[in-house]
Amino acid sequence: MTSLPGHPRAERFDVVIIGTGAGGGTMLHALAGTGARILVLERGDFVPQEDANWDPVAVWKQLRYRATEEWLDRDSRPFLPYTHYGVGGNSKFWGSVLYRLRREDFGALQHADGVSPAWPIDYDTLEPYYDAAERLYHVHGLAGDDPTEAPRAPYPYPPVPHAPRMAAIVEELRALGLHPSALPLGLIRPGESGGCQLCNTCNSFPCRIHAKSDADVLCVRPALGQPNVTLWTGARADRLLASPSGSRVDAVEVERAGERRRVEAGLVIVSCGAVNSAALLLQSADGAHAQGLANSSGLVGRRYMAHLATMMQGFHPFQKNDTVFQKTVAVNDFYLTGPEGYPLGQIQSQGRTHGVMAQTVVPAVPLWAYDAWVARGVDWLAMSEDLPSEHNRVLVDAAGRIHLHYEPNNLRAHARLVQETKRILKRLGFWVVMTHSHKSRNTTHQCGTLVFGTDSRTSVLDSFCRAHDVDNLFVVDASFFPSSAAVNPALTIVAQALRVAEHIRATHLKH
Ligand SMILES: Cc1cc2nc3c(=O)[nH]c(=O)nc-3n(C[C@H](O)[C@H](O)[C@H](O)COP(=O)(O)OP(=O)(O)OC[C@H]3O[C@@H](n4cnc5c(N)ncnc54)[C@H](O)[C@@H]3O)c2cc1C
Ligand code: SF4
Repeated sequence: MTSLPGHPRAERFDVVIIGTGAGGGTMLHALAGTGARILVLERGDFVPQEDANWDPVAVWKQLRYRATEEWLDRDSRPFLPYTHYGVGGNSKFWGSVLYRLRREDFGALQHADGVSPAWPIDYDTLEPYYDAAERLYHVHGLAGDDPTEAPRAPYPYPPVPHAPRMAAIVEELRALGLHPSALPLGLIRPGESGGCQLCNTCNSFPCRIHAKSDADVLCVRPALGQPNVTLWTGARADRLLASPSGSRVDAVEVERAGERRRVEAGLVIVSCGAVNSAALLLQSADGAHAQGLANSSGLVGRRYMAHLATMMQGFHPFQKNDTVFQKTVAVNDFYLTGPEGYPLGQIQSQGRTHGVMAQTVVPAVPLWAYDAWVARGVDWLAMSEDLPSEHNRVLVDAAGRIHLHYEPNNLRAHARLVQETKRILKRLGFWVVMTHSHKSRNTTHQCGTLVFGTDSRTSVLDSFCRAHDVDNLFVVDASFFPSSAAVNPALTIVAQALRVAEHIRATHLKH
């Protein structure tokens, strides 16, 4: 049945969750057992299990699983955002590095180019939810290994062992006086029969055997077994329809298979990712809320952050690198203080680069040359915090297109981290260190567009991620981050989603 424009069909649920990624998928998992009638809206589909999952040509050249829509940068130039729409969201493609923020990240921290602001909650508040998040996402790691990590309970699973070449590098790093530690990794039964095979196509690839700890496998699919849970795939939320006073969301307007539908719910939980959630609230402007929904602070869409990230490769012409699963080592010696006294960020080993991936940077170089090159390289990522700026923001134009205005900052700290990493890799004996950065178009670690806080004039969400202005609206994706810190964001998104879910169960879903 096709409804007429202007007369969408209406359906009613207790809760609508929009988006099934790290935030939304986790929220679904946590609320599924409440018995509340839950509708989950996901604009994409399930990622098929197929050979192409692990094919670098399909993933990196054909961009088989990437979102196809274009966003516009601050010069109105279109670009393809590095993001994915589908069940599980970007968690299907993540590198499974599931870090807690450092205790210091929750307080104000002076950086080279400004202050990283304090969070409205501290580490101790989130700690029990970090514990639960690590259990839910099968995180493997070693407590006490990393001097920057707060004292903590043991990880639920032991660390993934280093491959021989990486174990040797760890010893060499220690001999340089550094403190390498095990990367915390969310993998399902690594190395065991039927579990994760520790392959070389993990980060940026979906797992063909469903052994990656992602929101689809661990949260959404199990929840679909509950009779009170309904999932609509291919269902894009286009607008939230507010009550006349703007203090409640009455309904969600959805586009599904060319049909416009209206879904009413007592509670609306948005988790479309930091860019799309801000866009959704901006698109929900109406006569009474011309600047967008929940936007009395004027901050909806502002303070976008995404990390400063440089891919690095140490190359040695006579040392073939036989490592298959390489992503096991972190160096956090410069996380809180670099040589000049300010924080620089994190160094971590990366998954193996494939020749096809490298060729996307300079296509003119033949593939055989890249293959020969990457076979002799060890891959690293240097990652620094970018700082919230009100000029870095998401906007939506009259045609509904997303504009992402982002000027990276804190560049001095990142340049210093890259310099330190190069120096270390040279001391490890690598002849050449290659670097590459996606710069301002890297949207993989997007966050911060709907900041949480205690003051409704300086934040969009309260400390339980409920919109200050809208009683029945929560947002549980990466939007709430007041600062980006310099570790990978996902475990913090998951932990906060679990905390918010507990709050919702105790307040809005109390029977
Ligand atoms: C290649 C890659 C590697 C990464 N590696 C790591 C890592 O190792 N560790 C780490 O911590 N982080 C990593 N990340 C980042 C991590 O994946 C994200 O931080 C995390 O998934 C964000 O969770 P989220 O809930 O905010 O959004 P997402 O996971 O992006 O989920 C948003 C969901 O909302 C859906 N959606 C969007 N708009 C709408 C709409 N209007 N209506 C309905 N549905 C909608 C999307 O389809 C998607 O399912 C990586 C990301 C990528 C792309
Ligand atoms: S088998 Fe393991 S390493 Fe390979 S993609 Fe799956 S989760 Fe990642």
